[in-house]
Amino acid sequence: MIPYGRQDVTEDDISAVVSVLRSDFLTQGPVVPRFEAAVAAKVQTSHGVASNSATSALHLAYAALGLGPGDVLWTQPTTFVASANAALYCGAEVDFVDIDPARLTMCPDMLERKLIEAESDGRLPKIVVPVHMCGQPADMAAINALAQRFGFHIVEDASHAIGARCGDRMIGAMPSTDATIFSFHPVKIVTSGEGGMAVTQNTALARRMELLRSHGITRSPDLMEQQEEGPWFYEQVALGWNYRMTDIAAALGLSQLDRLDDYIQRRNALATCYDNMLRDLPVDLPFRSDDTCSAFHLYAIRLHDAGRRKAVFEALRNDGIGVNVHYIPVHLQPFYRRLGFGEGQFPAAEAYYNSAISLPLFPTLGDSDQAAVVDSLRRALQT
Ligand SMILES: *Cc1c(COP(=O)(O)O)cnc(C)c1O
Repeated sequence: MIPYGRQDVTEDDISAVVSVLRSDFLTQGPVVPRFEAAVAAKVQTSHGVASNSATSALHLAYAALGLGPGDVLWTQPTTFVASANAALYCGAEVDFVDIDPARLTMCPDMLERKLIEAESDGRLPKIVVPVHMCGQPADMAAINALAQRFGFHIVEDASHAIGARCGDRMIGAMPSTDATIFSFHPVKIVTSGEGGMAVTQNTALARRMELLRSHGITRSPDLMEQQEEGPWFYEQVALGWNYRMTDIAAALGLSQLDRLDDYIQRRNALATCYDNMLRDLPVDLPFRSDDTCSAFHLYAIRLHDAGRRKAVFEALRNDGIGVNVHYIPVHLQPFYRRLGFGEGQFPAAEAYYNSAISLPLFPTLGDSDQAAVVDSLRRALQT
């Protein structure tokens, strides 16, 4: 079976983890801040706040921005459920903005129309969460302009997009974004086993996320409300969670981060090979643009004949090709239907879902395996 994604763990990665196991710290110790600083430097921003998943990093960012009951957060329906769920953890409401069908990221025109309506209803979102779907950056210039006009926060869900670029900036360094979230789950670009990170240029926001990551407990005298009673003293000044990353995970992530440039290059090279090999088939290929560089976490094609998606998917699986589909639109999940969402609300996300197949793409995918994927797809489309 050729999987749709696979982690790449080297002997260096293993040694880095083993040296933590021999050290004094297993949970958050000296390696976590090194990993945070390394990620922040890599994506050209100021602060990184590591956590035990991207889901918890999203929750920390939303909570630190003050999202709570009575507030609304908007994201896109074509995403993993976590982008939306984390807003519900805060007691806020969630709504969605449909995708641009080519780019698969939040459609700025639709966002603008929905903002104008929301403004007249007095229901503007507090936070808007564009998702860099498959690694392709959203149209951040257009979304930033709307943020200036309507006054919402931006949290980028960049779980697919560490190492991607938008214009001359790395994803993670967009000037009007409050926080950008990366995932280090094993199927993502760089892994720490489980793990995530929020990066930001806002020092106060970083400090707040750090506080909430560990129960809302502080040992810094400047954050305390009472007189320090002795060297043992700490205070809980907010309600937080245990979302800490372990040093074991950070060591793996830090070691993997050294290869980020190679990973992005290899993923882009494989994507270009797919583009060339699939050009004559009845499928739409991933969006490309000169002013962005995708991290190519996923290579998702769309069948022109959506009615054949299931048969083509099954034929590929029968050939040992681990294809997948990303994503079932969040608003169609039973849990979200119970909140009042349903079919037909976000037609571009629904149409994309009905026709999409993600092909195997990971740095160690060999040329002959890639050729086997293309052969299998070609046969499946012809029968
Ligand atoms: C994977 C993913 C997440 C959640 O990441 P975890 O690290 O597994 O919590 C959130 N959003 C998107 C778009 C993802 O792909």
